[in-house]
Amino acid sequence: EVDVGRVLQEVVRIIGDTFPKSIRVELEAPAGLLRVHADPTQLHQVLLNLCVNARDAMPDGGLLRLRAVNVNNDEPRVRVDVEDTGSGIPAGLLGRIFDPFFTSKEPGKGTGLGLSTALAIVRGHGGTLEVASEPGEGTTFTVSLPALGQVG
Ligand code: ADP
Ligand code: MG
Repeated sequence: EVDVGRVLQEVVRIIGDTFPKSIRVELEAPAGLLRVHADPTQLHQVLLNLCVNARDAMPDGGLLRLRAVNVNNDEPRVRVDVEDTGSGIPAGLLGRIFDPFFTSKEPGKGTGLGLSTALAIVRGHGGTLEVASEPGEGTTFTVSLPALGQVG
């Protein structure tokens, strides 16, 4: 049993130690209520990976917003939005970003494995990973995982 809010707090701490100060970080997550069944190390890896991509998309700085909520529609879910105000992703590339080794970064800067790994991990947890992006405005990745128990 993992509290997604705690994992997000750890990720934000690492960001605070390592990301440029030109990137503002906001975390919004209800304390102690976001319970999932997960490998915490893998979940940490997924969320940090999404944040590193957001950082890379904001070379001139911007806002990185992490928001997590419980969603109770058909089945309880924990949803995490990782939102940036970066470059955005051209519509023509959206279908390829989850492909292994797809990268738009300079040689040596990206392996192109971050999102394919993240997708595999999220799916391995019975979840989904989706993207919405507006070129020039920013990008939001949404992780949705089955929640443990009914909350709220
Ligand atoms: P890498 O980061 O090594 O390039 P990823 O699999 O993590 O590989 O991402 C693949 C590609 O998806 C990136 O090279 C970039 O083109 C695009 N991408 C991912 N996240 C973002 C983002 N937040 N904003 C803009 N582009 C992104
Ligand atoms: Mg990456």
